[in-house]
Amino acid sequence: MIIEGNPKELAAMNQFHNGNRQEGLKLQEEFASEFREEYKDKDHCSCKKACRYHGNCKECVAIHRAHQEHVPNCMRPIINAKIKILSELTEHTIANEIDAPKEILRKEFQ
Ligand code: SF4
Repeated sequence: MIIEGNPKELAAMNQFHNGNRQEGLKLQEEFASEFREEYKDKDHCSCKKACRYHGNCKECVAIHRAHQEHVPNCMRPIINAKIKILSELTEHTIANEIDAPKEILRKEFQ
């Protein structure tokens, strides 16, 4: 089961956008139910950082809400995809002004 871009969840959003809330909620619960089962005992967190809160969404989100600087790492691809579209407005020249900071990753990603 994939999480990012999951077809059932995309179908749910399509139903919501078309005003079919009940069908959207039904599909969404099917996704959540499949997720619950599939990730009962395995790692669902896509964050590669060496972090003691890995996979602990409740505390991870609370930390990010508390410091207000950026979002949990699993949300980066969603936001970066939107920023990339906006970045076309300046022919991506913002890339010349940015250096991504070095991150401390878990051993398997070093
Ligand atoms: S909220 Fe935090 S702990 Fe949960 S999946 Fe995202 S990065 Fe991992």
